[in-house]
Amino acid sequence: MPQKRILLLLLLFLNCFANSAIVAQSNCNSDPKTAKLVKQALLYFRESNFEKSLILSRASLNEATIQKDNCLIARSYNIIAANYNAVSEFDKSIFFYEKSLGYANKTTNDSLKANIYNNLGNMHCFDRGEFDIGIRYYKKAIAYCLKTNNLKEVFFTNVNIAWAYFDVKNYDEGYLFLKYVNSNRKYGDESTEVIVDMLNGIYLAHKGRNDEANTYFLSAIESGKKCDEKTDLSNVYSEYATFLDKIGKHKEAYQALKNYNEISAEIYNEGKLKKASSAGISLELDEYKREIDKIENEKVVQSQSLKKSRIIVILFILISLILLFLIVTLVKNIRYKKKHNLELLKAKEIAEEASLLKTQFISTISHELRTPLYGVVGITNMLLEEHKEISKSQHLSSLKFSARYLLSLVNDILQINKIEENKIVLENFTFNILDEITVIKNSLSFLSQKNNNKISVDVDPEIPEYLIGDKLRLAQILMNLVSNALKFTKDGEVEIKVDLVNVEGKLNYLNFMIKDNGVGIAAVDQSKIFEKFVQVGRKEEDYQGTGLGLSIVKRLLGLFGSTITLDSDLGKGTSFSFVIAFEHDLAKTKSIIDEIEVDLTPNEVYKILVVEDNLINQLVTKKIIEKNNYVCKVVDDGFGALKILENEVFDLILMDINMPLMNGFETTKRIRLLGVETPIVALTAFDKDEITDEAISSGMNDIIIKPFEPVKLFKIINFLINEKNAV
Ligand code: ADP
Repeated sequence: MPQKRILLLLLLFLNCFANSAIVAQSNCNSDPKTAKLVKQALLYFRESNFEKSLILSRASLNEATIQKDNCLIARSYNIIAANYNAVSEFDKSIFFYEKSLGYANKTTNDSLKANIYNNLGNMHCFDRGEFDIGIRYYKKAIAYCLKTNNLKEVFFTNVNIAWAYFDVKNYDEGYLFLKYVNSNRKYGDESTEVIVDMLNGIYLAHKGRNDEANTYFLSAIESGKKCDEKTDLSNVYSEYATFLDKIGKHKEAYQALKNYNEISAEIYNEGKLKKASSAGISLELDEYKREIDKIENEKVVQSQSLKKSRIIVILFILISLILLFLIVTLVKNIRYKKKHNLELLKAKEIAEEASLLKTQFISTISHELRTPLYGVVGITNMLLEEHKEISKSQHLSSLKFSARYLLSLVNDILQINKIEENKIVLENFTFNILDEITVIKNSLSFLSQKNNNKISVDVDPEIPEYLIGDKLRLAQILMNLVSNALKFTKDGEVEIKVDLVNVEGKLNYLNFMIKDNGVGIAAVDQSKIFEKFVQVGRKEEDYQGTGLGLSIVKRLLGLFGSTITLDSDLGKGTSFSFVIAFEHDLAKTKSIIDEIEVDLTPNEVYKILVVEDNLINQLVTKKIIEKNNYVCKVVDDGFGALKILENEVFDLILMDINMPLMNGFETTKRIRLLGVETPIVALTAFDKDEITDEAISSGMNDIIIKPFEPVKLFKIINFLINEKNAV
């Protein structure tokens, strides 16, 4: 049996290697010196000089390993494996074939791979008795052969497979491959001629076609004798001997066996095997060394990677620590900010609450002060009118002045509070600047007479007749400045001068100057006087003002986008000036004029119902209304109003808001529910802005703030009554 294996291996090895050598030249790009060593090792192997073959293949393996030439490494291992196979060291042989395959798989040399798979197929089928594994290897070999279109190798592998099947006595299966081999003999060589004839002989012998079998065996012997390599011949003699013995030709069988033994002994003499095994030992040492080197290398790589991974670990820890630190800081920051934000929010809430409280406080105080002041001012007026004999009384004058002072203080505080809370929005009215200033001049005539001052008005004729803007705020500014000028000037002159300084499109820039030749303001005080409650040189005994006038002026001018300029010399006089731009637009003016309420002077006697709980205020309001020759009826509360309205019809109702039991809003709602459509005007000490929404929603028609100018009250009364009658 060993002969068979060697023959098979040799057959394939020779042929396959011849092919792979060609491929190797193109694919392996190998060093020619090393390639030559491999070739030489192969030649020695073919000559059965296993010792020399092993020595050379060892040398080629070392060179190829240094050159990292996977192709030559695989080829060297292949020859080494073949040598071990030849000396019947099957385990080692398979070990080196597998090594060879490992390196071949790192290359693209498919012929080489086919070759090794073939050899492994041989090893498993013939030496290990692992037929199935061997066939699998053969099939892989065929696949690689077909991939490279190497039909010669396909042929050789088929020879092997057929032989392998015959070896396990599966003649029918093996014949399928032998059939392929017989019809493709052109791919064979002189060595395969021998084997193929022998296989045909074996198959025909099995089929009992002994004559034909005998012819094939004899042909195989003839061919084998012609070959230099005698391994094939020895195999044929062995099979022929078996055949002859089987057919009873014992004498011929004996002769064939004798021939077989002679040839075998010639090929595998003891010396060759011994030498081969000593060469193999050095090779094994090399292999161990290589393994050790590999392990050492791996160790170095491992220690390097360990070092690297140590550095990575250290870096990782460092980065983690930094990240941790950052996260902790971040969390702390967030917490701090949250806390801080909460504190800020709290502070903001407190501030807003405080501001709301302040507003509520101011509005309540204003309301509470205005209500009695309405009475005080009203009754003082009544006394002065009805009792002319005491009109000269100093006390009464003082009372009137004090009441007026208090009233202006309350109004000023309310005004400044509204400006500070941005509650004032400028409105548009059409006005004539000269008319407005004349009204101001007239209303301050009392003050001018008091200090014996003259007021002169000088309005630039270039200023258009009608301007558009918030004339009420302008009047407030001028009233404050002119009354100050009159207050701080004695026996002098106060000049109100308005000049057109610039025109930009529809905008007319007017420069206002209020100039007096009074006491003047010291330079040190000039910046202070615009602060709230600042009064300079105030004497305890007089009530010149509240110290809020200029603050209001400054803030109102701010709403116009303007600033005030002060020019004053102590003892010589003072002048305040500012510029405001008013619009001049004829089309707009016309529409605004059209919207102006027509003041229809009443010829009729209207019947007014006053709903008021405060007795003094009842008295004052009733007096004012009756003075205008209207009929006035007063009820104390809302229920009184509802009751009287069941039986009587009124032209207008003046409704107080703040009343016990039922307030003005509720009373109005109920009146409206009764179907009474009489105009209702709120008469209240509340600030108008505070109650407008509720007043309108409850069904009221307008609002008048106490204390009021009687003229204004009648204007509203007449307008509303006329409007209702017109419907
Ligand atoms: P008051 O209500 O006291 O007039 P203002 O804010 O209007 O408050 O004025 C503040 C102070 O500026 C006054 O007390 C006064 O001393 C000074 N002042 C204002 N206008 C004049 C002026 N035309 N002549 C002299 N002093 C003035």
